Amino acid sequence: MDAPPIIVLDRLGKSYGHVKAVEALSFAIPKGEIFGFLGANGAGKTTTMRMLCGLTCPTSGHATIDGRDVWRDRQFVRARFGYMAQKFSLYPDLTVLENLRFFGGAYHVSGALLGPRVERLLQQTDLVPKRNELAGSLSGGMKQLLALGCALVHAPPLLFLDEPTSGLDPVHRQQMWNLLYDLSHEGMTIFVTTHYMDEAERCTEVGFLQHGRLLAQAPPRELKESFKARLLELDVEPTMPALRRLRESPGVLGVSLRSGSLRVYAADGEALVAGWRERWPFPDLQWLGHRWVEPDMEDVFTAYSQGYHALLNPPAPASAPAA
Ligand code: ATP
Repeated sequence: MDAPPIIVLDRLGKSYGHVKAVEALSFAIPKGEIFGFLGANGAGKTTTMRMLCGLTCPTSGHATIDGRDVWRDRQFVRARFGYMAQKFSLYPDLTVLENLRFFGGAYHVSGALLGPRVERLLQQTDLVPKRNELAGSLSGGMKQLLALGCALVHAPPLLFLDEPTSGLDPVHRQQMWNLLYDLSHEGMTIFVTTHYMDEAERCTEVGFLQHGRLLAQAPPRELKESFKARLLELDVEPTMPALRRLRESPGVLGVSLRSGSLRVYAADGEALVAGWRERWPFPDLQWLGHRWVEPDMEDVFTAYSQGYHALLNPPAPASAPAA
């Protein structure tokens, strides 16, 4: 990727008293990426995003957007991005149109630019038929789309989205992603946090965060390629007792349930299968079949977050957690 980084984090950290919410994060995001930031609840995603948006002061390290310090130059940097928080603020007593115009005014968008831009955003967010309805009367999904529209009204080159699709039905989720693809196609850089593994697949670059530390950062394909072990999927009945028993088996690092089958995380799955062919050690469980499957992002995230290092060959740019 040749594009220069738009965001650079340099040992960025934030502690709340003795809680280290974010620890020494160092990575860069080139212009034009859709960067997906993944991590469990409490991993530090929102704290990182709030630091990048100049909303909370780092307690160590620093970060820049377009070369300007996100905290020291926050007044200047603010105009360069749009931000949609988890708990976004709309004005429920204003109409859809009035909300967009209000945010346009707050960002000092000139009158000549504002009109056409608002019309375009109404179309992009599918809110044309709702333009004169009060924001407070919209469904949750429509509110989320309107909040996105408000974050875009000053046409920023960079967009921060904190779990923009949480709680959305699949249709609105797809609509939100279509809009993000359109924006990305127009050259916008997008930094998005998510819990959904299928959404990680839609990003051009993904970072895994755990306990405030970066476990890996790479495009989804490279992350999947870094899963070097052959991945075994087993059909065993009854399934739930099998899951528990297999987890305790020698050579098995972990087991997860996927569409009624069991994914077995093991450094040497072939040796496991060969051994079980000779002697199946669970007389009360029925082995119905097995296959080798391609790991998906959930498998990869599980391997990184559970520390199944024997399964992984991390891609070169992956940042090891700072000591
Ligand atoms: P989620 O997916 O649940 O939104 P997250 O990955 O965004 O989680 P953060 O909200 O950044 O995680 O929280 C990271 C850690 O920092 C957590 O342990 C949280 O309790 C703590 N934390 C966040 N904000 C504060 C605060 N204002 N005061 C004290 N601790 C905080």
